[in-house]
Amino acid sequence: MNINRPASNKPASGDESGNGSSGRSFETDLAAAEFEALLDATVDAIVVSDSKGFVIRFNKAAEQMFGYSSDEVIGKSLNQVVKGAGAVNHDNYVTRYVTTGVKKIIGVGREVLATRRDGSTFPAALSVGEARLNGRVRFVGLMRDLSEEKRIQKEALQHREQMMHTSRLTTMGEMAAAVAHEVNQPLSAIATYTAACVRLLNQDGDHREDVTEALKEIGAQAHRAGEVIQRMRHFTRSRAFERTTANIEGMIHAILPLAELDASANKVTLAIHMEKNLPDLTLDAVQIQQVILNLLRNGVDAMIETPAAERQLQLKVYMETPEMMRFDISDQGHGVSEDVRKKLFTPFFTTKELGMGMGLAICRSIINAHRGKLEYLNNPTSGATFFFTLPTNVVSGDDIEPED
Ligand code: ADP
Repeated sequence: MNINRPASNKPASGDESGNGSSGRSFETDLAAAEFEALLDATVDAIVVSDSKGFVIRFNKAAEQMFGYSSDEVIGKSLNQVVKGAGAVNHDNYVTRYVTTGVKKIIGVGREVLATRRDGSTFPAALSVGEARLNGRVRFVGLMRDLSEEKRIQKEALQHREQMMHTSRLTTMGEMAAAVAHEVNQPLSAIATYTAACVRLLNQDGDHREDVTEALKEIGAQAHRAGEVIQRMRHFTRSRAFERTTANIEGMIHAILPLAELDASANKVTLAIHMEKNLPDLTLDAVQIQQVILNLLRNGVDAMIETPAAERQLQLKVYMETPEMMRFDISDQGHGVSEDVRKKLFTPFFTTKELGMGMGLAICRSIINAHRGKLEYLNNPTSGATFFFTLPTNVVSGDDIEPED
């Protein structure tokens, strides 16, 4: 039992000093009154406890935040009042600190999940300070409700994911002609083989072998069309930020058919150079695929006026340093003019008739969120090289959040 516990929520300035208010100076009283006013005026919850974790003060903001009146709380163990992950251990932290001097929470801000009187929880920023006088200790806990901040962050994240989804749809929209062409080919092959089967079945004689061959071919063509559609669906589906360990070669191979389709439909030769034994990286593979497809697509667009024989697009992946993987996408197009350079990564900036101007802005924010960098350089001869880096030292537990 805490012998220093005051009976009510009255100023505690005299509770342990041993001298009543009559022995105090006017300045001391004034300081106490100022302290009271400060406690009540602040928007942060302030909970003062003694060295054993018993509540001595519970300001107005704390009453509002937790739903307890200070009279209900004063004298109770902090643990009973300020519940929640992190906060629940608060008085353990305090006890441990008092007995061992090991600072787990004192002077170190942390985020906790606090529990209101009605059992509902809310995220809060908690910081604890300590006051010592004549061998006595007080702990002052400050809590700020982070619910609103978290809600805004979540909304920004959702907004960003929506934008990325739209941008993937746009990229696909731009590649749609090539994709449609690719799907059309197996469909017309299926139609041709089917007609052949009907013809064979209407003819006299045993055509079982030919019909079997034709049916096998129909199956293979249907499978081919299905794969293209599957890849598109995977790439364009709406999804949340998702980081996993990815094999880089596999990640690139998965989008190559789409990229090659787009390139060949525009008479562009696509060359891929990947350094051997690239390490796996922790990343959101669909987002990085989106960046690569976007940059390749821009390269194709930039070469529309380039003579067909010179339309070379190259993707090169290599280790720039042992800590950084680098992706270069270079084209032989018109390059980036001085005018365009200034606005290149600005949202909605486009020089294309049907452009949306979101591609590069989104690519950059994806790469930044992966702690990499997206830049470009005009090539010495012609065209431009857009390149981005990705660090190798990001692990699944790292708290990467997409930025705005
Ligand atoms: P969009 O492709 O819809 O225009 P982006 O944000 O991807 O949107 O690109 C913005 C602008 O940057 C393009 O309109 C173009 O002027 C310029 N740009 C992008 N990539 C290249 C490139 N490889 N070569 C030259 N200019 C480029």
